[in-house]
Amino acid sequence: MVNEEVVVAGGGPVGLMLAAELRLAGVSVTVLEREPAPRSLPMVRGIHARTLETLECRGLLEEFRSRGRTQNRAHYAGMWLLDLTDLPTRHAYSLGIEQGHVIDILSRRAEGLGARILPGHEVSSVVQDDHGVTAGVNGPGGSHSLRCRFLIGCDGGRSLVRSQAGIGFPGSAPSVTGLIAAATVSPPDALPTGWHRLSGGVLVNGGGPSALADHTIGTFEFDRTPTDRGVAPTADEVRHSIRRVTGSEVTIDVLHWIIRFTDNTRQADRYRLGRVLVAGDAAHVHFPAGGQGLNLGLQDAVNLGWKLAAVVRGHATTELLDTYHRERHPVAARVLDNTRAQIQLMRPGHDTDTLRDVVAALASTRQGGRRLAEQITGLDITCPVPTETPHPLVGRYVPHLTLGTAAQPTSPAELLRTGRFLLIDLADRGDRRALARRWGDRLTTVSATPPEEADHAADAILVRPDGYIAWATDTPENEPGSFSRALTTWAGPPGTP
Ligand SMILES: Cc1cc2nc3c(=O)[nH]c(=O)nc-3n(C[C@H](O)[C@H](O)[C@H](O)COP(=O)(O)OP(=O)(O)OC[C@H]3O[C@@H](n4cnc5c(N)ncnc54)[C@H](O)[C@@H]3O)c2cc1C
Repeated sequence: MVNEEVVVAGGGPVGLMLAAELRLAGVSVTVLEREPAPRSLPMVRGIHARTLETLECRGLLEEFRSRGRTQNRAHYAGMWLLDLTDLPTRHAYSLGIEQGHVIDILSRRAEGLGARILPGHEVSSVVQDDHGVTAGVNGPGGSHSLRCRFLIGCDGGRSLVRSQAGIGFPGSAPSVTGLIAAATVSPPDALPTGWHRLSGGVLVNGGGPSALADHTIGTFEFDRTPTDRGVAPTADEVRHSIRRVTGSEVTIDVLHWIIRFTDNTRQADRYRLGRVLVAGDAAHVHFPAGGQGLNLGLQDAVNLGWKLAAVVRGHATTELLDTYHRERHPVAARVLDNTRAQIQLMRPGHDTDTLRDVVAALASTRQGGRRLAEQITGLDITCPVPTETPHPLVGRYVPHLTLGTAAQPTSPAELLRTGRFLLIDLADRGDRRALARRWGDRLTTVSATPPEEADHAADAILVRPDGYIAWATDTPENEPGSFSRALTTWAGPPGTP
């Protein structure tokens, strides 16, 4: 017997975002989180432009902004050369926010929409058949099993769901060790603030232009890996690492928290195997260079949520779910590559100095800097949307547009808050609106005057719930066939008019 429509393993940011997306589409979802209470360290995470645009489309941006701090520059391998201010987005900045706030905002959102979140419940086994998935669960009341139609592993880099489902996780073994600690050291001025590439490695001392909070100290050591990654790091480990990297002897007076991480770089070879899917760190891990992992994971969740909901609600077949892998796997693969490149650029040594000089010169040009900034911020992400009516907007993220409507001006971001498809009719076409009504249970239609900001003429734009443009036209004679076929591809067959 199937108890649940969807079970999400892992109540980290990605699992919570996915749960909220599924609830927005009316699917019942239970989140099983191993930890009895949020365990998140007060580490600052950088949220970049494409994710900020996505959060705006769900009405979450203001709350994120109110708890974070904006920054106009980003770094590439510790070179703070990327000017974010002229990026082609309304959100030309990055936002530093503690992961605890991210989890708090997203768990309140998911619960507010009706998701069931069960802390202290660890998924211990996963078995699937043609009709559903059975998850073994260890909870406060003992062990039991839960049956669901789909199980999503959002259970982090060491995902049990991924390994139990038999999804491969190929990649490269770690060669770099990073330590970050919130600590008081003495003597207090022993270490310079900011980012420093030194002969023994990299020192990141909060207080400079870094994504770390004040009072945090980080080291990256190359060609050195922890003997046992399962053993918790200690104050002594930080002290020794600081000495090796900087040559300075310090004493750790107070240690608030400490984490160790590596450049273990791996990616799930498939994001779906039958009824089990993976998202976030469960699907990809890499060195946290440029602050991209959480951004990737939140965007995975928004790409997957509406697709899975369409399948669960019977509008679409599992073929739609395969577009999740097709669209998101290459995006993460590029991030893995750019973090590998950044590691090479951070290594000590003269050869790296010369390489950095070349990259710094390129990054200092407007075009070169913008290219790297668009990569780190995710603004260069497009979706390979098959289309029979090519239009420059198809596959791109919906731009900010002021839409003059009969009621009041609005924008795509406001209209996407419901998580439905969106048809923006800019040519007042009654026949198109009549056709659109056949998908009225999944589609919002708005008639608007053509906006001044539009950089491509369009009569109509069809936007997917995740903000990517599925269809657009400036040649009405292509309709109605191509419009209804695009809707059928992404939203499924029409309902009752
Ligand atoms: C030093 C550092 C700095 C970083 N900075 C940034 C940054 O600036 N920007 C950025 O975008 N990213 C950053 N990242 C990456 C980011 O933290 C991760 O990508 C993000 O936390 C992934 O979220 P997640 O929900 O996929 O996984 P996690 O945050 O790992 O959450 C997984 C959850 O699953 C739970 N779980 C695990 N196993 C089970 C189980 N069997 N059953 C039930 N629950 C389970 C865990 O308890 C956890 O709550 C950084 C990472 C590090 C290490």
